Amino acid sequence: MSGFKTTLINCRQCGRRILVRAADAERGSIMCSHVGCGAINELQKLVHYDESIVQGLPEFGQLTYLGNAESSYSLQFGRNVIGTSETCTVRVTRFVHEGRCFISRRHCTLTITFDKWTGQLRYQLQDGAIDDTTHTHHYSLNGTLLNGIPLQKNELIDVDNGGIITLGGVDRFRLTHFPIPPAMLDTYKIELGFNPDRTQ
Ligand SMILES: [Zn+2]
Repeated sequence: MSGFKTTLINCRQCGRRILVRAADAERGSIMCSHVGCGAINELQKLVHYDESIVQGLPEFGQLTYLGNAESSYSLQFGRNVIGTSETCTVRVTRFVHEGRCFISRRHCTLTITFDKWTGQLRYQLQDGAIDDTTHTHHYSLNGTLLNGIPLQKNELIDVDNGGIITLGGVDRFRLTHFPIPPAMLDTYKIELGFNPDRTQ
């Protein structure tokens, strides 16, 4: 129980304040000391993780092209614009099918953030991208699909590990998350205090 500070909670039964000490926290419960109450309050640990952990990560996952020739593209933290233009964060090959390429120059945006509550990276997909000179959002010509379902305009959707992103209806990519190792996560854990469990 490193760095534990004495804290106050409200009793789940009488609502009055109870002082929680390290020993109570370790036990996982505390009995209300107020006269006429004596309710047992379960102590649910509330933690989150420090975002500075992302500075030490070796990678942020990748996209793998699921075509004849498999190729992988590394992702970066923050905004990844995917398309065939050299202005993209992830510049993909102009895959040609019967003389046509269906991927737009700036086709879609995959944004990677750190979720401080789960301690894991979050991947969110959106069709189109912001134009860096006009600062307006432009959609792709042929659309973006997630697991076979077309994204609506303005839709921002979470992509699970292994999710399949289809660009222009033809070219498929599999997303591989980078899982933050539990041992590393542990060192960035911040204990916020305790809440009485109200489910009892
Ligand atoms: Zn009480």
